[in-house]
Amino acid sequence: MKVSDIKTPVSSIAGIGPQLTKTLAKVNVFTVGDLLQYFPRDYEDRTKKLTFRERGPNGKVHTVARVVKQEWFGYGRMKTLKIIVNDGTGIAELICFNRAFLEKSLVPGTIITVTGQFFVKYNALQSTAFEVLKHEPVDESVDITTITPKESGILPVYPLTEGLTQKAISKAITQALSQYALGIENELPSELIEKYGLMQKGDAIRLIHRPAEISQAAAARRTLVFEELFQFQKIIAERVYKRKGLGNAAPSEGAAVSDTEFTDSLSPLQLDFFNSLPFPLTDDQRTAIFEMDAEIDRAYTERERILNQLDRGLPPPTTPAFTMARLLQGDVGSGKTLVSLFLCLRIISWKGQCAFMAPTEILARQHAETTARLLAPLGVRTAFLTGNLRAKGRTPLLKALKEGEIDIVVGTHALFSSNVEYKDMELAVIDEQHRFGVLQRQAILEKGRVSTGGATFEPNLLMMSATPIPQSLALTVFGDLDISTIHSMPAGRKPITTYLVKEGNEINAYEAVRKELAKGHQAYFVYPSIDSDENIKSAERAFAHLRDHIYPQYKCALVHSKVDEEEQVNILHAFRDGAIQVLAATTVIEVGLDVPNATCMVIEGADRFGMAQLHQLRGRVGRGDAQSFCFLIYSKDITESGIERMKALRQSTDGFYIAEQDLKTRGPGELNGTVQAGELGFRIADLSRDMEVMQEARTAALAFVSK
Ligand code: ADP
Ligand code: MG
Repeated sequence: MKVSDIKTPVSSIAGIGPQLTKTLAKVNVFTVGDLLQYFPRDYEDRTKKLTFRERGPNGKVHTVARVVKQEWFGYGRMKTLKIIVNDGTGIAELICFNRAFLEKSLVPGTIITVTGQFFVKYNALQSTAFEVLKHEPVDESVDITTITPKESGILPVYPLTEGLTQKAISKAITQALSQYALGIENELPSELIEKYGLMQKGDAIRLIHRPAEISQAAAARRTLVFEELFQFQKIIAERVYKRKGLGNAAPSEGAAVSDTEFTDSLSPLQLDFFNSLPFPLTDDQRTAIFEMDAEIDRAYTERERILNQLDRGLPPPTTPAFTMARLLQGDVGSGKTLVSLFLCLRIISWKGQCAFMAPTEILARQHAETTARLLAPLGVRTAFLTGNLRAKGRTPLLKALKEGEIDIVVGTHALFSSNVEYKDMELAVIDEQHRFGVLQRQAILEKGRVSTGGATFEPNLLMMSATPIPQSLALTVFGDLDISTIHSMPAGRKPITTYLVKEGNEINAYEAVRKELAKGHQAYFVYPSIDSDENIKSAERAFAHLRDHIYPQYKCALVHSKVDEEEQVNILHAFRDGAIQVLAATTVIEVGLDVPNATCMVIEGADRFGMAQLHQLRGRVGRGDAQSFCFLIYSKDITESGIERMKALRQSTDGFYIAEQDLKTRGPGELNGTVQAGELGFRIADLSRDMEVMQEARTAALAFVSK
């Protein structure tokens, strides 16, 4: 069977108890299939014996030694055990910080395998980072240089999380391999396995976990990466093929449209909307709408023509019908959402439905509210669908959707759950598309796919992203998409002023914020996040200080990932409505939040964020007419390149420029900062190292699909 089809829960593996099951869930390992695909992040080479005399790079030692004697040094609580060992080539000291218990087991004469890093210190060879494994006792006359170390071979190093140890994960995987590895089938066509010199899938899974040599691990990885990228490229190639001859994949810089040309092109519904807006559209917004309207019309006319042919008993066309597939890029706050609403209106003019998908509940809710507020007055029927919706509200909603009584449904990935049906979904909008994997993108499109009389119609697709994608990458990764870009910001926006503040001088930032609060504006405070309890605690401490000592007269609130979703929504609503003035958060506010009255963004520990992320965060302010400010508080021990990054952010508010600087200061080796592998939903492929395989996979996929 396919490895991903092994759905047996991990708890069925011998040795995986409830505790470990819980821990594994934290790293998204639920099934044995997941476990087998929990790949090592690195390997430790213990194939060669490395004696004290030979020591490898980084002082690496892997040898067999005899305990000579024990000594203690230091006093009181600092008292530390030192074990002196000899491996026949030299003498070394094992410094046992917090490991006094070794006194009992490593008595003089004991034979041990010693693995670790050793450095010369105080004229002696020492290690504080070592592992020991005891051997059977041997006679004193035995030459220990002839004994092979225990646990020799290549050791996989797995990514860990709180509560997960190398030993535990390794043991679990060994068990899983012994029970399941033999039954794993190939997912790649065998001619490709042969042509590209790849391994059988079962072998690749086994050897990536338990290689006998590093080269095997590398070959296994190449197989798995190839397979993953091939699947990815196949989806793209299928679309490219379908759209062949349609001039796909060229990033178009649409020509500017004149006022009258633009308004003349709008459908009545769009025109109503246009006239209801309190501000003019930017040139880039108009161009994007104009371009995409034309494509939506083309898709519609073509569909009508084909249906007509089928009605008259003519055979279905041999080439698939045209549909729009576009990526709309534009900096945060450049007004992408508005563009997408225009397109929805176009579809509704043609009597189709739209699905608008956002990555988080909060963002989806915000879009649902905007959509209802702006479009309901025009008679558009909108709805909001999330996984949290209880059956009571859900059942009638699903029914209305299926019967075509809803024009636009906004939601999270609940939009493509199996029980959701559309009457005629002709446009899928995907906001912050980098948060979704390719497969999710496929899933939403499938919801709108219609097959009739031998012809298949896909819905139109609009993906939006505020993460600028380098051109070369865009072509490979989004080879199936046309690209529109919004370069300019809406008129009247004042560039955000950014200040760099060294840790210790925060009070300056706090005082500046106070002035803004006094004017009736609002502020965000962001703390470095991720879900560790440690981080949350320190965010809570910092927040308590802010609330009780810095801004006691203002209403402050804190949101982070451990605050439950409903509460988060309540807080964000209160903030939007101005009932809360200071919103402190971990990066959960990163995406899309739109509160024009907020003028201050204070980012604590700024040097712990990536540039793109800082830029996104900063984009939460400067969304209204008032001057906005961003304070980047960086730690005292910031690195030199860290300072460079901060300076680039102070200097520019242009997301494309920042993305470029980001690349420069981190080097191409970390390219994945712009488009992270995980963001594309890859398990193993890493775009910063696997672009070559990507190219191969692309060639293979194109050839495969066009066969
Ligand atoms: P994005 O999704 O690109 O980050 P949004 O669509 O959320 O940006 O737009 C940010 C804010 O700018 C919204 O409040 C929106 O109403 C407003 N906006 C959009 N287009 C314009 C425009 N042409 N002029 C003025 N404000 C605009
Ligand atoms: Mg947005």
